[in-house]
Amino acid sequence: MITYKLYEPMKEHLSFACGGNAKFFVEPKNTEELIKVIKDCKKLKRKYFMLGNGTNTLCPDEGYNGVVISTKKFQNVLLTKYNDKVFIAVDAGVSLFKLNKLLADLGIDGLEWSYGIPGSIGGSVFMNAGAYGSEIFDFIDFVEVYYRGKTKKLKKEQINFSYRNGGLKGKVILKVGLKLISRMPQPVREKQLFYMKKRIESQPLNYPSAGSVFKRQDKIIPAEIIDKLGLKGAIIGGAKVSEKHAGFIVNVGSATTKNIIELMEKIEEKVLLENKVKLEREIIVMK
Ligand SMILES: Cc1cc2nc3c(=O)[nH]c(=O)nc-3n(C[C@H](O)[C@H](O)[C@H](O)COP(=O)(O)OP(=O)(O)OC[C@H]3O[C@@H](n4cnc5c(N)ncnc54)[C@H](O)[C@@H]3O)c2cc1C
Repeated sequence: MITYKLYEPMKEHLSFACGGNAKFFVEPKNTEELIKVIKDCKKLKRKYFMLGNGTNTLCPDEGYNGVVISTKKFQNVLLTKYNDKVFIAVDAGVSLFKLNKLLADLGIDGLEWSYGIPGSIGGSVFMNAGAYGSEIFDFIDFVEVYYRGKTKKLKKEQINFSYRNGGLKGKVILKVGLKLISRMPQPVREKQLFYMKKRIESQPLNYPSAGSVFKRQDKIIPAEIIDKLGLKGAIIGGAKVSEKHAGFIVNVGSATTKNIIELMEKIEEKVLLENKVKLEREIIVMK
C-alpha cells in the first residue's frame, strides 16, 4: 500500500526552510510504486513535483496544490569494476554526500569537486550541478528515466544538457550511471576535504539557503556584479543577500518564499538597470 501524507510542511524538506504545505506528499519505496503514483496523478489530473533533497527548490507560501514525490527511499548503489574503470549505477535519491563517502572508502576518483553539494544525484543530474570547473555530466554514462509511460535508458549523447541544466525537463530520473576511475583511497578523501574547506571558507553554510541563486553566463559572474552594486546585506523580511557570498540569499530568521522571490527580483532589476545583464535564476519554484 502506498501512503500519502496530507498537507505536509515543505519547509521541513527544503534547505531554505520556508514555504507552505504540499497537499499530498509521498515517498515511493521502489520504481513500481513511483510509476503507480505518477499514473494515479495522471488519472486524477493531479500535478506532481519530483523532489530530491530540496536544496535547490522553493515552495510557494500558499503551498503546492498537488503531489510532491520524494526520492528519499531510492537508495541503491551498484558498482562494477574493469581494471581501473568503474561503472556505478546510483538510484536517484542517493545524496552526493553518501556517494562521495562510498567513493572515498573505495578509492574511486572523479567526483571530489561535488563533496559538499547537499543534493541528491537525481536533483544534481536534473540541474547538471557543478563546481570548481567540473559538472556532473562530465561523468555521466546513462540516465534511466520514466517518460511518457515508459522506462528508458538514455545515453549521455542522447541528452541535451547544458550549463546548470540537465535537459531532462518533464522526465522522472530513476537511476544515474556514472563512469569513474579507481585510484587509492587516501588522495580521494584528501581532495574531498580540500573542496569542503573551500566551501566552508567562501559560503554562508550556517544559514538556510539553496546555494547560488543565479547562473553564471560565460564571463558574467553574478556574485561579483551583485557585490559591486553594493547589494551584499540587502534584506527583505527574513531573506538577505549573504555578506559572505553575494551569490547566496540566506534565510536569516523567518523568511517567507515571497521575501526570497522579492529579493531576487530586486537584484535582477538593479543588475539589468546598471549592468544591462539579464540574470538567470538557478533556483526552482514548485508549480
Ligand atoms: C549550501 C549549498 C551549496 C550548494 N552548492 C552548489 C554547487 O556548488 N553547485 C551546484 O550546482 N549546486 C549547488 N547547490 C544547489 C543544489 O544543491 C544542487 O542544485 C543539487 O544538485 C540539487 O539537488 P536536490 O536533490 O537537492 O534537488 P531538488 O532541490 O530536490 O530538486 C531540484 C530540481 O530537480 C528536480 N528533480 C529532483 N529529483 C528529480 C528526479 N528524480 N527526477 C526528475 N527531477 C528531479 C526537481 O523537480 C527540481 O526541479 C547548493 C545548495 C546549497 C544549499
